[in-house]
Amino acid sequence: MTYRVTLVPGDGIGPEVTQAARLVADATGVPFEWEVVEAGEAAIKSKGSPLPDDVLDSIRRNKIAIKGPITTPIGSGFRSVNVAIRQQLDLYASVRPARAIAGEGTRYPGVNLVVVREATEGLYSGVEHWVDRDHTAAETVNVITRKASDRICKFAFDLAVRQKRGHVTGVHKANIMKTTGALFQTAFREMAAKYPQVRADERLIDNMCMQLVKKPDEYDVIVTTNLMGDILSDLCAGLAGGLGVAPGALYGDSIAMFEPVHGSAPKYAGQDKADPVAEILCLELLLRHLGETQAADRVFRAVWETVYEKKVVTYDLALPGYTDRPVPASTCSAMAREIARKVPLVDPSAPLPGITAAPSSVGAIDKPLET
Ligand code: NAD
Repeated sequence: MTYRVTLVPGDGIGPEVTQAARLVADATGVPFEWEVVEAGEAAIKSKGSPLPDDVLDSIRRNKIAIKGPITTPIGSGFRSVNVAIRQQLDLYASVRPARAIAGEGTRYPGVNLVVVREATEGLYSGVEHWVDRDHTAAETVNVITRKASDRICKFAFDLAVRQKRGHVTGVHKANIMKTTGALFQTAFREMAAKYPQVRADERLIDNMCMQLVKKPDEYDVIVTTNLMGDILSDLCAGLAGGLGVAPGALYGDSIAMFEPVHGSAPKYAGQDKADPVAEILCLELLLRHLGETQAADRVFRAVWETVYEKKVVTYDLALPGYTDRPVPASTCSAMAREIARKVPLVDPSAPLPGITAAPSSVGAIDKPLET
């Protein structure tokens, strides 16, 4: 059976890293048919809109998509295409695994946690306005509903059970935000009571940041609201080795879309310099979602061995600040070719080289939804 998947190359480094993921997908032998649609700057040029209808139509039809990052103008200009896609397709669960790859680029070689972020409401609802004509005061509304809080907390506990992760931490700021924070907190507590087999605890967002930097190994699944989850997932990407290696997935009730945590990194656009690993690990998550577990294991293993060997890695994995074994930097396309070359050769059952701690579930971001 051929899988028809929507592919959105995106802006900046997006076309390069999505091309890398396609190359690796071809190496798995899993039959894909890519429906390529433009969003962001390319779509403004060709169709006059950053989010033309054919993008949403294609994702609705195929129910599965892989996407590169899309630039959002800062402070003015069009609304975030990323936020619009999530809201219009009701992709409510943003899942961002933070796994150290081969113990490289991190003080915490065993770090393996998952941030589950509500992705349709909160402070990203787009409800904001200037209070006065002179623009000296402004308001952004933090929309929190019981329905969205219940379903994201349920998603997090279900994921913890499925992946045999025994611990879920609910993150909020209910001491200060006594309506929105308390609503999310109540939803979390009531959902936790339905999962007695999972350890549940809570942290205030500020304390959570400090705890993660000091002892990330004590956390497993973190569930929180939109903006807090956005910030925490970048923090966790940093713990696990950086934005270049941090994949992400968005799930609705019937649609899944895979995109890296990183943005379009405009300063590296067109230079064949960006790290393709995050987008290639998005492909791994996509394969797991399709139930193509063996191909997903091969992709994960090929990434791991490439990062471990350090013969062909991009600048971010080669720098002295990242590794105690600095090496010359390779290009995005060369690293992608190296990972693709390894895919059919690796032995997914062999112990992972260079592992210094036993992650609770390496590569076990399995299929969370019925397809
Ligand atoms: P960014 O993630 O694009 O870049 C931050 C820095 O991280 C880069 O300068 C680079 O040093 C590094 N980096 C990121 N990805 C990398 C990769 N694959 N390989 C190597 N280094 C990498 O964040 P930003 O500069 O804050 O945002 C740029 C644009 O991307 C903005 O318009 C923002 O809105 C957008 N953005 C989009 C998404 C998305 O599409 N989901 C996510 C985040 C940011």
